[in-house]
Formats: sequence, C-alpha cells, structure tokens
Amino acid sequence: MSDIWIMRIGHRPDRDKRVTTHVALSSRALGAKGIYVDTHDATLEENIGSVVKRFGGDFTIETGVQWKQAIRDFPGKVIHLTMYGERIDAALGKIPRDEDLMIVVGAEKVPFEVYESAHLNISVGNQPHSEIAALAILLDRFTGGGSLYADRGGEMTVLPSERGKEIVSRHA
Ligand code: SAM
Repeated sequence: MSDIWIMRIGHRPDRDKRVTTHVALSSRALGAKGIYVDTHDATLEENIGSVVKRFGGDFTIETGVQWKQAIRDFPGKVIHLTMYGERIDAALGKIPRDEDLMIVVGAEKVPFEVYESAHLNISVGNQPHSEIAALAILLDRFTGGGSLYADRGGEMTVLPSERGKEIVSRHA
C-alpha cells in the first residue's frame, strides 16, 4: 500500500485551529503518514505531536510548508479534493496503489493552480461541505478502513468495548 501525505492549504491559525487539528487527527486515524500545513503554526505542531506521543505511531506534522513547491516536488501522485472534481466512485480506480499519494485540501478559496497541478481532482459529492468529511470518506474508501483499529504501540491504547472505557497504559 502506498504512503499517504496530506497537504493542507490556506490554514489561518486564528480561524482554522480546530478544523486543521481535526484534519490532522482524522488523517492519522485513517492511515495517512503525515500532514504538511502551509502556514507556520507551532501550537498545532505541539498539539498533534502530543497526541502522537500518547497514542503512538509515526505520524508527522510539518507547518510553514510552501504548497507549490511541495506539490511540484512530491514523488508520487497528487490528488486535490474539491466539490468541482470528478465523482469519487469514478476516480477511485484511477488512484495508483503502488505510488505515494499527496492529498490536497483547502480551507478557503483554493488557487486555480492547484486544480491544474493535481493529477486528479476528486469530489465527494458535488455539494459544498467539509475538508474533514471529504478526506475521511476518500481515505476510508481507498484504504477500506484498514488503519482504524491498528495497534500503534502508544503509551495509551484504547480497547474497543461495548460499554465504558478500556485503556491500556504502557510507560517506557
Ligand atoms: N469554497 C472553497 C473553494 O471553492 O475552493 C472551498 C471551501 S471548503 C470549506 C474547504 C475544503 O473542503 C475544500 O478546499 C475541499 O478540499 C473540501 N471540500 C468541501 N466540499 C467538498 C466536496 N464536496 N468534495 C470534495 N472536497 C470538498
């Protein structure tokens, strides 16, 4: 399976704090390797780093990344999620499984250059909704949910249970 990276563009630390945090956490939970964010945001890096430290895995976050360069230099296929893109059901079969993927999501209006430089522009329905929802649906359909219950070897591991909270704590 290919490695999946997320490129979040248009992040405004004051307004998008919560949404970008959730883009990162959802990407991690659904199997992405890491996220690049265009605007530098040390608090966001700390918050995601703290989740990774406690819950495990090797998910990375890098902020202050120039998206044009990141897209241009990415050694794999670039997928842009947009309500204007081709239908997800038609596009899924075009996504390679033997190449790394960069999935680009916006915050506000996305520059047209992104539409032109992406290998695939994919929509999750043609209604405006959310980058978190669009990303989660694409990742879940592409990976078949394979990472949802993966053991990431964290200090804290949640055990699925019918009722209540079951947590295993491992300390180094
Ligand atoms: N109005 C902005 C534009 O025209 O570019 C989009 C803003 S939307 C709140 C933020 C992001 O959510 C988009 O850049 C896109 O990545 C994602 N998104 C929203 N609706 C989507 C849809 N139906 N399909 C795929 N992605 C979507």
